[in-house]
Amino acid sequence: MKITLSQFAGFCDGVRRAFEIVQNIDSEKIKKPVFVLGSLVHNQDVVNKIEEKGIAKIDMQTFLDSKAGEIGTLIITAHGAGPKIYEIAKVKGIEIIDTTCPRVIKVQRLAQVYFNRGYTIILVGDRDHKEVKSIFEWGGEKALLVSNQEELRNLDLSGLEKVVVLTQTTQSKDFVKEVVEFLKAKYPNAESLDTICLATDQRQDEIKNLARDNDGVVVIGSPDSANSNRLFEIATSVNPKTIFIERAEDLTDEWFSGLEKVAVTAGASTPDWIIEGVLARIEKL
Ligand code: SF4
Repeated sequence: MKITLSQFAGFCDGVRRAFEIVQNIDSEKIKKPVFVLGSLVHNQDVVNKIEEKGIAKIDMQTFLDSKAGEIGTLIITAHGAGPKIYEIAKVKGIEIIDTTCPRVIKVQRLAQVYFNRGYTIILVGDRDHKEVKSIFEWGGEKALLVSNQEELRNLDLSGLEKVVVLTQTTQSKDFVKEVVEFLKAKYPNAESLDTICLATDQRQDEIKNLARDNDGVVVIGSPDSANSNRLFEIATSVNPKTIFIERAEDLTDEWFSGLEKVAVTAGASTPDWIIEGVLARIEKL
C-alpha cells in the first residue's frame, strides 16, 4: 500500500509558536500560579505536556470569578481573547503571556477598525469557537455571525449601508466564497476581506487533490479542532472513504482492506509525534 503524507500535516506556524512560547517559560521568573485560558492547542497530548510544567487549564468562568492573587499569570492561547480579558487581568494584577497567533490578531484588529468606522460586520465562523468569540468581542460584540447555510439565507441586512465580511482564519474557502457571492448579489455595496489563513488555504487545496488521487484518506485531529473538522468535511465530500482519528490506536485493519493508495493529513493542532505514530501503525498494518 502506498502512503502519501500531506506536506502541510501537523502544527501550523501559529500553534507551533504558542507551544514553543509555553515550553520556554522560565518558571523561576514568572508570577505564579500560572494558568492557561482553555486548551492551548486542541490536542489532549499537548495539554498533558503543558500540565507537566505545572500549568493548569482554567475556563472563562473560573477566571472571571477569581480573586486577586489566585491567578499569577494567565496564558492566552493562539485563538486569542476579547479585549475584556486583558482589562480584567489588569485590574486583578494578573500578568499575561499572549500567544495569540499574529494572523488572528489581524482579524481582531480589522473587526475593531471596521466597527469603529460604523460598519456592520458579517463574521463567517463556527459559533462556539474561541477565535470567533474573540473576533466578535473586538468587533464591539455587534457582528452578525454566519455559521451555516440557514443562517446565511436568514440574514437580513435591509437598511444597512456599510457591511463588511470577515472570516474565521480556519473557515472553509468554499463556504466563504458562497457567503460573499450571496451577499454581493443582494447587497452590491457589501465589502469582503479575505482573512482565511494561508496555512488553512494550502491545506484545503491540497486535501482535495489528495482525496481525489487516493483510495482512502486518514485525517488526524481532535474533534474540537475546527481546521481538522474542515479537512475531514472537504476530504469526505471528494472521497467518502475518509476516516477521522485522534491517534494511531483508532485505526483498524478492516478499514484499510482493499486500499492501494492512502493519503494521511493532520489538523494544525496535531503534534508531530502523533502523526509519526499513525504512520508507523499504518505501515505495520
Ligand atoms: S491556522 Fe493560521 S491563523 Fe490559525 S493558528 Fe495556525 S497559523 Fe494562526
